[in-house]
Amino acid sequence: MTKKINTVLGEIAVNDLGQTLCHEHVVCVSPSFYHAFKKNWMDKEQVVERAVTLFTQAREECGLSTVVDGTPIDLYRDVNLIKSVSQKSGVNFIVSSGIYYNYELAVRRKSAQYLSEFFINECKNGILDSGVLPGILKCATGDRGVDEVNSKLLEAIAITHEETGLPIYAHNEHRLKTAYKQIEIFKNMGADLEKIIIGHCSDTDDVEYLESVLDNGCYLGFDRIYPSAYERQAKTMATLIKKGYGDRMVVSHDFYAYGDTGVDLVSHNNSKRDFTTVHKLLLPALRQLGITDEQIRKLTVDNPQAYFSK
Ligand SMILES: [Zn+2]
Repeated sequence: MTKKINTVLGEIAVNDLGQTLCHEHVVCVSPSFYHAFKKNWMDKEQVVERAVTLFTQAREECGLSTVVDGTPIDLYRDVNLIKSVSQKSGVNFIVSSGIYYNYELAVRRKSAQYLSEFFINECKNGILDSGVLPGILKCATGDRGVDEVNSKLLEAIAITHEETGLPIYAHNEHRLKTAYKQIEIFKNMGADLEKIIIGHCSDTDDVEYLESVLDNGCYLGFDRIYPSAYERQAKTMATLIKKGYGDRMVVSHDFYAYGDTGVDLVSHNNSKRDFTTVHKLLLPALRQLGITDEQIRKLTVDNPQAYFSK
């Protein structure tokens, strides 16, 4: 029987995921600033409009079918907003439970077990009263590395994974090679490494590092593909594919319709980034480097399906 996966509009068969981007965001903003300043901080109606335009463009021009929205609770995960973008754009959205690299007072003194209970509850019973069930668990390590607080958060996600069987997406900081420590924690906690994506691997061209991470059996997310960097990124990916790792790589942009990273909604509209760079620039560049159509299909269709099927 085909495995099913939760999207914001209900379950779909994993075989029906189609062209999938493994890590994007509808919005990625500060929940506390939004809570305090509401519309002055972010105009949700404008955000939905912009998101629908961008995701509809990716569906029409690239055949995009499914997006994994990697927004955790502390980057303003709003499932009702994502639901409305999904309905209006015709793209499936899988949403995340879990947490970013967070040092708020709310997490510092709580135990991994205590925090995991909240994640487990929403994975089993739905996100508040939305009726939406998460399909993936998000965690992250930033530029402080895997310190005491971060390792607790990673453990909370490993406990949630154990309890729910949901796969994990782990944001890695390649400058500190954090994937090693993240994997060590997941391994010690008994996590299934074949159900883990180590993210942001497209930020580095250190093939030796990437290979050593892949050798643990996890997936690599080449999930920050940029119009200004895709040629370099394609070369690194082609090297790994030619070494035989093509079954464990997924792609995306880590882009958003609206985010807090220094631009307002108006100037953001002039951004050259969108959700089509993978299909329009990266995949053709891989073809140029001798990567076959069958292998290219794995990156956007077969590998996401295999990852969510386990
Ligand atoms: Zn992201």
